[in-house]
Amino acid sequence: MSQKRADMWDRLGGEVDLLVIGGGITGCGVARDAARRGLSVVLCEMNDFAYGTSSRSSKLVHGGLRYLEHYEFSLVFEAVSERRILLDIAPHLVNPLGFLFPVYNDSARKLWFINAGMWLYDGLSLFRSPKLHTTLKPDEVREQEPALNCDDLSGAPLYYDCSTDDARLTLENALDAAKAGAVVASWAKVKSFVKDEQARVVGAMVEDQVSGAIKEVRAHAVVNCTGPWTDRTVAMSKALSSGPLLRPTKGVHIVVDRDKLPLTNAVVAQHPKDKRVLFGIPWGDRTYIGTTDTDYRGDPGDVAATLEDVDYLIEASAAYFPNHRLSRDDVIATWAGLRPLMAPIGSGSDIDESAVSREHQIIVGQDGLITIAGGKLTTYRRMAAEVVDNALKLLRLGNHKPKNLKACETAEEPLPGAVGWPEDDDHAAVAEQVQEASNGRLDDDVARHLANTYGMRGLELARRVAKDEALGARLVEGRPEVLVQVDWACEEELATRLVDVMVRRTQLFYRDHDQGLGAVPVVADRMAELLGWDDARKEAEVAGYQDEVRLSRAWREEVAAG
Ligand code: FAD
Repeated sequence: MSQKRADMWDRLGGEVDLLVIGGGITGCGVARDAARRGLSVVLCEMNDFAYGTSSRSSKLVHGGLRYLEHYEFSLVFEAVSERRILLDIAPHLVNPLGFLFPVYNDSARKLWFINAGMWLYDGLSLFRSPKLHTTLKPDEVREQEPALNCDDLSGAPLYYDCSTDDARLTLENALDAAKAGAVVASWAKVKSFVKDEQARVVGAMVEDQVSGAIKEVRAHAVVNCTGPWTDRTVAMSKALSSGPLLRPTKGVHIVVDRDKLPLTNAVVAQHPKDKRVLFGIPWGDRTYIGTTDTDYRGDPGDVAATLEDVDYLIEASAAYFPNHRLSRDDVIATWAGLRPLMAPIGSGSDIDESAVSREHQIIVGQDGLITIAGGKLTTYRRMAAEVVDNALKLLRLGNHKPKNLKACETAEEPLPGAVGWPEDDDHAAVAEQVQEASNGRLDDDVARHLANTYGMRGLELARRVAKDEALGARLVEGRPEVLVQVDWACEEELATRLVDVMVRRTQLFYRDHDQGLGAVPVVADRMAELLGWDDARKEAEVAGYQDEVRLSRAWREEVAAG
């Protein structure tokens, strides 16, 4: 089955069992589950997969230790169970990470109290955490995490959660859905709903965001998985009579060089001013810090870091890492995302943002539109299963009974890059295989990068390099991203715009010192060749990418303006 976006658009249309709107982790998870159960599925994403919150999270697959403070035990239990499942079905993308929780003599919560919370956390995972927590003494902390302020430290519990590549986790769900027969179309925006005589939603008009063409998709059930756009999507069908479903909050992260802030573990910090919890997270040759949490009412497409956000994060970092003070100039990149949080029922904006529940809700409107709102990246699979169960109920009520359906199998079946992944989770062994498959043409760092990014599919990229050495060329000197990733993105991973490749397929946007701008000519030329762009299209793509970079650097204009 082709994994090219143009073929997906060609196949879009007609009548299917399920239409999914939104290609974030929720929509892609729903499409994967439904297609694997045997439903015919179309997924429409108005931008690239994971364009929204699903590429702008803290990139953690975690139980959410801090939810224990709000006594949300069931939420934590559900999340740690899902963490276990994701470690099994996506071991190449979900990696155990130590979290160090420094407790100082003047901390409001004493060490014994935090420790008790850790036992509870390990217990809720039925003691199947990636590793059980330990408590480090100040000397051990000094040795393990030399950048951390150890003055007046009582000790630091070290517990384990997981890190991930959120956008790739999302993409692999989309690719697996496609493998199971779904049509998953990016840059395909739902513009309006099609309704029957009873005013029930029975499909949608979809616009190709590249060519402007319009198609109609008819469906027996339609699911709204549009994250921060949820209320806008609902409003396409009916007036929001009882107020918005969501109360989105903005979260910003900043990326700096690892040398500027060298971390071994993720560090849990509390902001010195408002005591909010933040993380410093090691990210290969970079470190990122996040997140802020502020109410947001604007267009989700415009969300960006402000100078105030950046300064807030730098201030928190200075309190914990006084010998590694960051300046604004150290910030390589930023990202800003919106938490699609449920609006608290019967309450107003006097609720503290961080206290708003992360749990999800599935709502079936009188118009038949199924909306899923809220949730977390970590629990997407379980949420998706619930949505598909709801959709099946609706199909049966409507007397449409698809045949030969299978039970949900997403907890057992590996995502594409995990097929054949070693039982002992040995990333280095896979990297060696990748290098061999390239006939030794790829350097160690590149082979490691391909193994960690694509899992076992890294071997297929390496084989391309074995056939054509030019594809092993680095996109940026000294960095591990290589040209074959551009080919792979366009031919096997549904990439269609320059920004798809620069931001989410390669992450050059976040990781490279000049956000990949130096690599743009090479990547744009290659994409033009592969996708048949003329000069005007190529120029437009480059301008589009520059705009994206500009938005992420908008906060710098505030600095310049004084
Ligand atoms: P989105 O990813 O936003 O997807 C919605 C999609 O719908 C978008 O891609 C959008 O383009 C598309 N869309 C909208 N309208 C239309 C239309 N008309 N037609 C077609 N497509 C449309 N969770 C964790 O588990 N771990 C974390 O570490 C974590 N950290 C977070 C940090 C921050 C700062 C934030 C903001 C969230 C974090 N979360 C985390 C939560 C998690 O990221 C989100 O719950 C999750 O990504 C939401 O996914 P989604 O698919 O519902 O929404």
